[in-house]
Amino acid sequence: MMKNRKKIVIKSKHLDRVRNNFRKVIVSAVECQLKRLTGQLQSIEINSMGKYRELDSSGKEVAQDLRVQRGKLERDLKASVCKCVQCGRIEGNMKYNLVFKEWHCPDCWTATELEYKRTKGLADSGKPTGDFAFDYYSTF
Ligand SMILES: [Zn+2]
Repeated sequence: MMKNRKKIVIKSKHLDRVRNNFRKVIVSAVECQLKRLTGQLQSIEINSMGKYRELDSSGKEVAQDLRVQRGKLERDLKASVCKCVQCGRIEGNMKYNLVFKEWHCPDCWTATELEYKRTKGLADSGKPTGDFAFDYYSTF
């Protein structure tokens, strides 16, 4: 069976602290940039009365460019090892789901594995499992 995960483990307390601080700096910088882009977008799209204004084609182009930049930053942060994709935790070792290309903290990883096992048990005994995403959960 193909292994669906990889794990980066730092055991040194000092390096763990350094890594966590780097992650905090990166996440903070990205969030600051996201806030700046959102502010720029709002200043273009929303008038002084707080209502959306009609944009000309160049205004629409600028707004679209800002949305694209913001979306890319959000996706990049979500795909990075800096934050658990499920709970947003920044500190500690992370596990990587190779199929879905996501980093998860050990707590979320374990909870997801347990949820899969629990729900698979229900399915195996013929009980309803609703629209449980077996394809996703089985990769943990
Ligand atoms: Zn988590």
